[in-house]
Amino acid sequence: MDRLRHSLSAVGADAILVSHLPNIQYLCGFTGSAGLLFVEPHSSTLYTDSRYTFQARQEVSDAHVLIVKGGLMRAAGEKLRSSRGRRRVAYSASQVTVAQRQALDKAAGNKVRWVDDGGLVEKLRAVKDQDELERMAAAAALISEAFNKVVRLIRAGASELELAAEIEYQIKQEGGSGPSFETIVASGPRSAWAHARPTAKPLRKSELVVLDQGAILRGYCSDMTRTVFVGRAPARIRRLYQAVLRALEAGKEAIRPGVAAGAVDAAARRSLRRAGLARYFTHSTGHGLGLEIHEMPRLGKGDKTVLQEGMVVTVEPGVYLEGIGGIRIEDEVVVTANGAIDLTSAPRDFLEL
Ligand code: ZN
Ligand code: ZN
Repeated sequence: MDRLRHSLSAVGADAILVSHLPNIQYLCGFTGSAGLLFVEPHSSTLYTDSRYTFQARQEVSDAHVLIVKGGLMRAAGEKLRSSRGRRRVAYSASQVTVAQRQALDKAAGNKVRWVDDGGLVEKLRAVKDQDELERMAAAAALISEAFNKVVRLIRAGASELELAAEIEYQIKQEGGSGPSFETIVASGPRSAWAHARPTAKPLRKSELVVLDQGAILRGYCSDMTRTVFVGRAPARIRRLYQAVLRALEAGKEAIRPGVAAGAVDAAARRSLRRAGLARYFTHSTGHGLGLEIHEMPRLGKGDKTVLQEGMVVTVEPGVYLEGIGGIRIEDEVVVTANGAIDLTSAPRDFLEL
């Protein structure tokens, strides 16, 4: 909260209205589904409704809690109406709907000048503190463990949905609050769909299977992908797998503080180009994660975000061949002074099951 206050002047604001729930959780601890946090130089107010009276009392620190009726935006607007003079209020255009902004303007009269917040809170969230890093390491360990258990169930005849359900069951058994996104289990030609939904399709012999999974533990997400083969893989598939694995290592080796996120993407892409596979790598190399599964920075082509110590990112190169299948290997790493340190512990060897 203090760091946010200090950065307000950089965007020309004297207050900020935070509406994105993960940002609210990050700043004051509140995990309810309805909230609006107004941060001023010397105080902060969390607006929520009566469903959250007790929960807010327990969770919220560093902010006054106001239980309101008749809309959070209206309540915040009414407070602004009583301000002396016009306020320069930062907000995130990608998080506030037109209707919400109109509700606030209507209640605030002409007391508000809107200022784009330029992703202030997201930038703070990108660099994790020690407590966050511990939680993220635990979430990454949990999903690695869950995968290691479920991998024993992978065989011809098991369905994609069964395996996805098993992964999500293991997440909760191990104390996670749930999956950090809808678990992907995609087999055979469907494994070439980078973001396939699991179906009732049974796994067949001689198929690739992509499993992309993550857990939420104590608020923080993990994310990991492994690709396995049902039966003995032909040499061509093994070679493809090794090429993706080398791209994963090349991406990780490019990671260190001070390097542009785009350089990590370039390193992974270069590695696949050498294997003649660059055109089959159709998405960006990775992404930050934390309270949300996708956060800053994005490890994409040409991205200029400078990596800093304490950022946590995925590296997840893949190749996707229509009609044949896909191979993706995704690890989660923390950026340290000595480069990337793995948080994901599940084995990366090609498993032929
Ligand atoms: Zn993933
Ligand atoms: Zn990912």
